[in-house]
Amino acid sequence: MSIEFLPMPDDKGYFGEYGGQILPPDLITIMNQINDAYEDIRNTDDFKNELNDLLIHYVGRPSPIFHAKRLSDKLGGAQIFLKREDLNHTGAHKINHCLGEALLAKHMGKTKVLAETGAGQHGVALATACALVGIECEIHMGEIDIVKEHPNVTKMKILGCTLIPVSRGTRTLKDAVDSAFEEYLKDPVNSFYAIGSVVGPHPFPKMVRDFQKIVGDEARKQFIDMQGKLPDIAMACVGGGSNAMGLFTAFIEDESVELVGVEPAGKGLDTPDHAATLTLGSKGAIHGFECYNLQDKEGNPLPVYSIASGLDYPGVGPQHCYLKDIKRVRYESIDDNECLDAFMELSRVEGIIPALESAHAVAYAMKIAKDMPTDKNILINLSGRGDKDADFVAERLSL
Ligand SMILES: *Cc1c(COP(=O)(O)O)cnc(C)c1O
Repeated sequence: MSIEFLPMPDDKGYFGEYGGQILPPDLITIMNQINDAYEDIRNTDDFKNELNDLLIHYVGRPSPIFHAKRLSDKLGGAQIFLKREDLNHTGAHKINHCLGEALLAKHMGKTKVLAETGAGQHGVALATACALVGIECEIHMGEIDIVKEHPNVTKMKILGCTLIPVSRGTRTLKDAVDSAFEEYLKDPVNSFYAIGSVVGPHPFPKMVRDFQKIVGDEARKQFIDMQGKLPDIAMACVGGGSNAMGLFTAFIEDESVELVGVEPAGKGLDTPDHAATLTLGSKGAIHGFECYNLQDKEGNPLPVYSIASGLDYPGVGPQHCYLKDIKRVRYESIDDNECLDAFMELSRVEGIIPALESAHAVAYAMKIAKDMPTDKNILINLSGRGDKDADFVAERLSL
């Protein structure tokens, strides 16, 4: 399967009333240049062949679909299938869009790729892609996160990126974003800011979606080859929403396929400690675009929380907001304890340790599968592997 690109959101980057470019005019100019370059380059044979080749021979695509028979039998209802993005090089779906962004930066003649990272997953995937493509990489990371996420910090150093510790403010993701963005603004002509999900100003939600669409395209074909029909439900966890958009995009026009996005309910939707943006948020602007937000009365982003650090973002991709409003996708939430149960259950019944992010989708599938007939099928995007979470879970559950 080779990568294919979709037609746009509208030409200002809106999906319905969400998305756009909520930025000062000079930055809009820069974003439009990136969009123009992307539109020029994305359909050239040069770019497509280079990216396809890397997706196959470097990432290991296509990732398989696995029928989780033992888990399905144990639940006694619908059949559960896993799209194994956890088997990709670097262990998650993020490498798909990081390679796309690094290659685009190189084709645009940029000399440096910049980004922030919270838990370090985006940082590692981007540092990997930049090492491969041969372009300089600079990652900004809060000092608190540097201490917390030590294995990822070590990997980034080994991969040769420049790690900039951020000591201001909260010393976490929020200030790392500001720090990386300031650095970017010093030289936007020669540097490229690589956003880590389907968020941020146009054209990033479109571009990252296009780079992730390969997941759904493969899965749709693989599923039909295996089962002779489409799945009844396709499901994925939603932080910023890139792995979910990658899966959903291929099924959006299949009316028979129900699409479900699963958000983190953290310690409970009735507490402040969650990141269920689509479930409980309201419309506003964040990081240069419009979307559902978890915000206070003045429109400032609220602190958010999830046991899965890859899901704790107070905004969400604009296309998800649109898909929620038109009711094409249903958004549900799963709390920390349900997530941990699913993490352990998939590990012990199938021998697959999922990322805590992905375990949210597994948990919701487990919740509904048992009440469905055994001839119904649920396809889950297993966005990543849980090696990074193993020590944390073992400690939390006193294993
Ligand atoms: C980062 C991450 C996510 C969340 O990102 P999305 O853009 O919502 O897909 C989900 N799963 C894994 C394994 C991740 O590393």
